[in-house]
Amino acid sequence: MKKIGKVYLAGAGPGDAGLLTVKTVKMLREADVIVYDALISEEILCRIPEEKELIYVGKRSGNHAVPQDGINRILLEEAQKGKTVLRLKGGDPFVFGRGGEELELLLEAGIPFEIIPGVTSAAAVPAYAGIPVTHRDYTSSFHVITGHRKKDNEADIDFASLVKLEGTLVFLMGLSSLGRICRGLLDAGMKPDMPAAVLERGTTSRQRRVVSDVGHLEEEAEKAGIGTPAIIIAGRVCGLSEKFHWAEDRPLGGRQFLITRPKQNISRLAEILRNYGAQVLELPAIQTFPLTPNKELSAALDKFAQTGEEAWLVFTSPIGVQVFFDELARQGIDLRLVLRKKAEIKFAVIGNGTKTALRGYGITADLMPEIYDAVSLGNLLAETAAHGSEILIVRAAQGSEELIPPLLEKGCRVSDIPLYETRSLLHEAFRERIGETIAAGEVDAVLFTSASTVRGFVQNMCLQNYDNICAVCIGKQTAQEAARYGMDVVVSERAAIDSMVQRVLEMFSTGGQHTC
Ligand code: SAH
Repeated sequence: MKKIGKVYLAGAGPGDAGLLTVKTVKMLREADVIVYDALISEEILCRIPEEKELIYVGKRSGNHAVPQDGINRILLEEAQKGKTVLRLKGGDPFVFGRGGEELELLLEAGIPFEIIPGVTSAAAVPAYAGIPVTHRDYTSSFHVITGHRKKDNEADIDFASLVKLEGTLVFLMGLSSLGRICRGLLDAGMKPDMPAAVLERGTTSRQRRVVSDVGHLEEEAEKAGIGTPAIIIAGRVCGLSEKFHWAEDRPLGGRQFLITRPKQNISRLAEILRNYGAQVLELPAIQTFPLTPNKELSAALDKFAQTGEEAWLVFTSPIGVQVFFDELARQGIDLRLVLRKKAEIKFAVIGNGTKTALRGYGITADLMPEIYDAVSLGNLLAETAAHGSEILIVRAAQGSEELIPPLLEKGCRVSDIPLYETRSLLHEAFRERIGETIAAGEVDAVLFTSASTVRGFVQNMCLQNYDNICAVCIGKQTAQEAARYGMDVVVSERAAIDSMVQRVLEMFSTGGQHTC
């Protein structure tokens, strides 16, 4: 029987990923395909599991957004393929979200759907600026109005009726008409000293507010260079912002950090930073894909150490050790067949993690460089190995090239056998968005909890340069790795998450000296 698709029309809230509803989070996991646009924040995009299919229908730099009937058609076609479709919209899908329009085609075609309401920016953005949209002492209603005119010749907003209501007025999509809105309100009899505000990118780490009065709002917003998305709000409650503002006042309010999510894990670090008020972008960890069955490996092991006096087996990562022994097991190769050869077999490792991993299989490494990198390992091995030794390197495909030249110079016979590939599962579209966010200087720091998270970050992001990145690192080893890519590094006092958080607080909390 053909699976029937279904469309979930869901609100993603105004930006803060903490404002996603439980139901929407559930659908992020369960949907086959997610259709989203420009209002969905990076923090939320980072929550979408890597294997999901994504369709972006928003504006791209220089390009137009997919027109509304195009979006309607995409939803229909995807559902007709039998997929569960999550249509993710900013705020609430029915508050100026054209949610209604997106249902018509589905209804005609008999596609089942559900609506998942979201936290609308109309209430949440004021709340994050310390403005309650209603308050018994000031107003008993609030009204949400679009500031966007469909066509130039269309009748304008009925300001007279709005002013008569004496409620809080919230205008969405109105920033480009700010002057027209303020004049309209004043002409309709609103007092020029009525408190009013423009709130930009509310609920995110970049939220900004300009609180003034209707008479001066346009001028003040212009002075502050307020940009989109923004809401305009007029009403006595705006005066409370001065007293009730809170979001920026949290220790890490207004800060945005980027971290690597541990494999199949939620990040404790991310949670702690969020509790301090920061916005945290989480990148997926780099995934390892073993090359199996690895014929090249079994052939190399067959030939290995059959001549000469000394032969070296070289491991350059803990995961390499694991994949190596897994592959032996899979192919049914007895370790004695590998080790009992004419030449004496020795083991070299790149660092302590790899050494420990090898120890777990009952083998103590013979050689480990003091500095844990490929050059140091290559140099040390070239110094130590007997002239003409055979060297078998088992490691990731596309491993560092710096390992091999010193060995060749020494006259060693080197084979380099790939065991696994590493791949970034970061969606292309997010990579671009996060790249733009970094380029705009909107990531205060990238936090690294191991040298491999540095490599993972670089592999995920593929940036041209890393000079402008402030890297907060858990230890010396990690800092060295980050410095190699040109990042500005800061090291936590101890190699512990709490110590890293402490360092971040010292640097980035209010009054902190946030130089990297
Ligand atoms: N459905 C959405 C509104 C869509 S219309 C909702 O319920 O929030 C888009 C307008 O919403 C923007 O022009 C802006 O006025 C407002 N908006 C959405 N997110 C915002 C944010 N984080 N900060 C300020 N305004 C926002």
